[in-house]
Amino acid sequence: MTVPGNRSAPRSARVLIIGTGFAGIGMAIRLRERGITDVVILERAADLGGTWRDNRYPGCACDVESTLYSFSFAPNPGWTRTFSPQPEIQAYLRRVADDHGITPLIRFNDAVDGARWDEPAQEWVVTSTSGLWRAQHLVMANGALSDPSVPPLPGLDQFTGASFHTAQWDAEVPLDGRRVAVIGTGASAIQVIPAIQPRVARLIVLQRTPAWVLPRHDRAVPAWRRALYARVPFTQRIARGALHAWHEMMFLPFRHPLPRRLVQAAVGWHLAAQVRDPQLRRALRPTYGVGCKRLLLSDDYYPALVRPNVEVVTSAVERIGAHAITTADGRTHGIDVLILATGFRVTDPILAPTIIGRNGRSLADAWQGSPKAYMGTTVAGFPNLFMLAGPNTGLGHSSVVLMAEAQIEHVLGVLALAESRHVRAVEPRADAQARYVAWIDASHATTVWNAGGCRSWYLDRTGRNSTLWPFGVDRFRRLAARVAADDYLTA
Ligand code: NAP
Repeated sequence: MTVPGNRSAPRSARVLIIGTGFAGIGMAIRLRERGITDVVILERAADLGGTWRDNRYPGCACDVESTLYSFSFAPNPGWTRTFSPQPEIQAYLRRVADDHGITPLIRFNDAVDGARWDEPAQEWVVTSTSGLWRAQHLVMANGALSDPSVPPLPGLDQFTGASFHTAQWDAEVPLDGRRVAVIGTGASAIQVIPAIQPRVARLIVLQRTPAWVLPRHDRAVPAWRRALYARVPFTQRIARGALHAWHEMMFLPFRHPLPRRLVQAAVGWHLAAQVRDPQLRRALRPTYGVGCKRLLLSDDYYPALVRPNVEVVTSAVERIGAHAITTADGRTHGIDVLILATGFRVTDPILAPTIIGRNGRSLADAWQGSPKAYMGTTVAGFPNLFMLAGPNTGLGHSSVVLMAEAQIEHVLGVLALAESRHVRAVEPRADAQARYVAWIDASHATTVWNAGGCRSWYLDRTGRNSTLWPFGVDRFRRLAARVAADDYLTA
């Protein structure tokens, strides 16, 4: 971390939060409810919303039902669709932040570069665009899906047309009547492809690995139901409970082969029903176990791929030229616009090298390419540091908002523990963290994510699954809610 010398004196906060996605906003709300009001949130962008602010590509929507993909304490009877589109989700977050008095705590356009634990002062010194901050507690709520991953494709810098990542969508670039290529066939691609297909002259879909796709059954929420949820909020709570129970059950196929076979049959049927051409069907059929890569939901992805202006290219991208992509089969595809739906840097977070804990050790040093944390939230050697959406808190089957809320309760529990012991610093014991991580790893061994025969972004460069929680959400909630005092060191 470089500490600029000509900045003003550090400002301070008891808790400094990085990021204004669901996790950061939720953390600030719960801290204030607990009477901790000296809170500052640093946001690198000019608006709040995290990944729901950045991802504005056509078709961007949640693939978990909105009634579940929202805060438990802030139900929204007004969702217009089962799976709400991005603008509605961001508007929801803005409203929740306003209603709970969080917006004034946010310092916009203030990006954190790094932070160093100041041992004598027992607090964090944080460097950001605006200068220095001192904070007793630092909450990293900067998200797992926040930094785009752009593969080093040969010739990418020589492309003279418009090119952008799905998370950095350039709405100024006209697509109508143009030749467009999309690289990637993950969750973002399968939303953007059907949204732009009717507008473009030609759409080349460059698929490296096909995805398993289930129907989404997205529909408008009828006005009567919205009115019912608004007037009798209990009814929406029942709906949320039912969705939660359904998603908890959806976890089973990821662990057990028998229910997985049922899902496998459903995805196979969905593909067969929507794609008649046997050659295309073969190209779209994955060879790995269903769920190994994120199981995708879409009603309109396959129908878009069979349109005459679309071609699915399975040959690898070899080179990008000024106006074209050349693939390994020797073909050259002329294009005007290149869309990179190539995902995010999940297991090598950009802040890891610049968060420096005890003894000058960075998170990157501690992790060696494989992020690890106690309860996915705290890290040995990094006192008073909390990570939301941290290692092994991702889900393949339900709403991550539920996980963020459970982590937030864990943070509050740890802060209460430190307070009850009248100490300024708290961190997990190294042996407790090691035990926890070993248990997570053992629990992953037989899941389809680890043993399903694919290479996904769930696995880090050491091959370890450092991304997903290996059980249902309720189990994490129960564990995180109870802070095991013996597992924490206080000073
Ligand atoms: P992703 O799932 O990581 O997909 C990236 C795609 O790019 C993959 O198909 C990948 O192929 C391909 N790719 C990467 N590098 C490539 C290269 N060098 N050459 C060719 N292809 C390449 O990213 P994403 O679609 O942005 O989704 C990321 C996550 O965001 C999702 O899993 C989900 O958790 C979240 N998301 C959620 C929603 C929602 O509705 N809630 C929507 C969008 C995204 P390989 O598979 O071969 O690596």
